[in-house]
Amino acid sequence: MNVPDHPQTPAQHAFLFADPAAHSLSPLMHRAAFAYAGIDGDYAARRVLAPDLPDAVAGLRASGILGANLSLPHKESVLALLDELTPAARAIGAVNTIVHKGGRLHGDNTDAPGFLAALADAEAPKGGLSVVLGAGGAARAAVYALKQAGHEVLIVNRTHARAQALAAELGGRAAWPETAPWSAVTLLVNASSAGLDAPEDSPLSVFPPLDPSALVYDMVYRPAETRLLRDARAAGLRTQNGLGMLAHQARLAFAAWTGVDVPVSVFLEALNPPAGDLAGAAAP
Ligand code: NAP
Repeated sequence: MNVPDHPQTPAQHAFLFADPAAHSLSPLMHRAAFAYAGIDGDYAARRVLAPDLPDAVAGLRASGILGANLSLPHKESVLALLDELTPAARAIGAVNTIVHKGGRLHGDNTDAPGFLAALADAEAPKGGLSVVLGAGGAARAAVYALKQAGHEVLIVNRTHARAQALAAELGGRAAWPETAPWSAVTLLVNASSAGLDAPEDSPLSVFPPLDPSALVYDMVYRPAETRLLRDARAAGLRTQNGLGMLAHQARLAFAAWTGVDVPVSVFLEALNPPAGDLAGAAAP
């Protein structure tokens, strides 16, 4: 697929390459950001099949193209197609944002800093013992971010060997849910896909007794309240879903493309109605 299949105006373009792509929330957010910033630009979600990714990425080198976001299944396979990677993208092994600068393509990962910004908004503890649930791409970004921010990190995953491999690569320790030191945990992060489109599915069949000050952050935002968050609230804990991370990763990508740091509230308001009501919407 060749990317520059677009009208002459607006002057600047950014894309999402994903499969599926049709129900992405990213066009809503980035179009609102272009309007807020007064930039003559547009953002389009393109369904790109895996064999077509090299052509799609090559098309980003054309003038007038700011870059692109990547989602499933392209975040890892795109690395080999880029000219440069940020340290975060290289360490995490995944790129969610390509920035086009003068014909060269830079790969970045805004999921990690977007996650930290969402944690800061939620007044999460700035350190201490954190548990990350999951060992896929989102968990890699979370472990990298939390380690950078000085947290001690335990990784709990359905497939324990993947948690061990992640810990060996990015730091932290793999743990079993039955023996983790839960009462010392002040931040619990669901970076697994348990709960996604499945309100009764939790990554922890028994909700553990965390420190009473703990924040429970679920990267899932559809449904807006997962079983994990309901269990946490029932235990009297503070909770936050993944909408803030979604908005912040978009804000950071937009700033990398345009140099304009649009307030996160613009991205969040573009997600209105709440994601729980957006039937069929897909991440990001
Ligand atoms: P992924 O690479 O496919 O990894 C999925 C992980 O979830 C694996 O570790 C898998 O365990 C685990 N898992 C799946 N189903 C499970 C279940 N029923 N019980 C327990 N564990 C289960 O996916 P990903 O890209 O990391 O995404 C993970 C989640 O993060 C998705 O819900 C995604 O939408 C969300 N996310 C949100 C944002 C945001 O901006 N809010 C950004 C990125 C991702 P195994 O290793 O055993 O298979």
